[in-house]
Amino acid sequence: MEHTVDELEAIVRNRICSVCTERTTDDQCGLEDPSSCALFRLFPQVAQAIQSVNSSDIQPYIDAIRRNVCSVCQEQAQDASCEARQQVQCALDAYLLLVVDAIEEATGKTFDKTGIQNLPAGPAVVPGPQLRL
Ligand code: SF4
Ligand code: SF4
Repeated sequence: MEHTVDELEAIVRNRICSVCTERTTDDQCGLEDPSSCALFRLFPQVAQAIQSVNSSDIQPYIDAIRRNVCSVCQEQAQDASCEARQQVQCALDAYLLLVVDAIEEATGKTFDKTGIQNLPAGPAVVPGPQLRL
């Protein structure tokens, strides 16, 4: 079944917010401004970027996110660096593997998690804004 972007966003919110370290004990987003979360502020671009890739390796997804999402994100500096990413404060970057998994599962694709072995060193992905790959 084909999902709308809104449906995909609801699926991803359900999956990611529930494990996000910003989540408060009363199930709210703990960010000062919840609408600033890059994952959902730019969700249409996130969904489009992930759906444009079909790989068992996470790197092409990271590349697509950098190219299609980070490039239009207000947090990215002119030299393509990102303080939020460096500080592991971007939920999109911190949880990218889970985001890809959720979207691919919802759209009928299977993301082969063995690709995690090919993860590059440096910030991007995995359980919790305090963790990095
Ligand atoms: S920071 Fe983003 S992913 Fe985390 S709880 Fe808030 S809206 Fe959800
Ligand atoms: S890594 Fe930085 S530039 Fe990319 S979406 Fe997150 S906050 Fe924006």
